[in-house]
Amino acid sequence: MHQGTSISAAEAKKRLEDGNRRYISGQTAQHDLGEGRRLELSTNGQHPFAVIVGCSDSRVPPEVIFDQALGDIFVVRVAGNIMDEAALGSVEYGVEHLQTPLLVVLGHEQCGAVKATVDGGEAPGSIGAIVKKIQPSVDKAKASGASGNDLYQKAEDENILAVIAEIKQSPVVRELMHEGKLTVAAAKYHLRSGLVEFME
Ligand SMILES: [Zn+2]
Repeated sequence: MHQGTSISAAEAKKRLEDGNRRYISGQTAQHDLGEGRRLELSTNGQHPFAVIVGCSDSRVPPEVIFDQALGDIFVVRVAGNIMDEAALGSVEYGVEHLQTPLLVVLGHEQCGAVKATVDGGEAPGSIGAIVKKIQPSVDKAKASGASGNDLYQKAEDENILAVIAEIKQSPVVRELMHEGKLTVAAAKYHLRSGLVEFME
């Protein structure tokens, strides 16, 4: 049975933009985090209206910067907002099983994972796996001639686009997009202003 949220991708995006505006203005909503809401979500299940792929960075928590509450958004967070098989499986679960109309890949300024890749040097343990994923985006940014702070910014942007391209390789995602049931959007969070800028 179709259990998804009934709102459109445009409405979902507007909810995120409205929430981000509230967050920036400091006028966040009074969210119901009480027992009643918990029981309701437990009984009726979750019906989030968007899947957000974001970075683990403590300064970029999607629920906070979009001013959303329990059950609103399905979040996949990995340093550098990159994909691996488990992350892609999480995305597919959100868009296919929970039937969210909108998927947002959310990068951000001053991303440590991107910076580490640009700067090079040691990447101990499994951090190397993250750097390896981001490297092609850094190469692209360098090839464009960017340098200094521009290079970090450009590499962050390229990384967001690369993650979107990778997600679109998923047959599950492609099918939903083809059926007009899913919109995929790119966005970037600005640390100082708090603004989430949708890139298209
Ligand atoms: Zn980051």
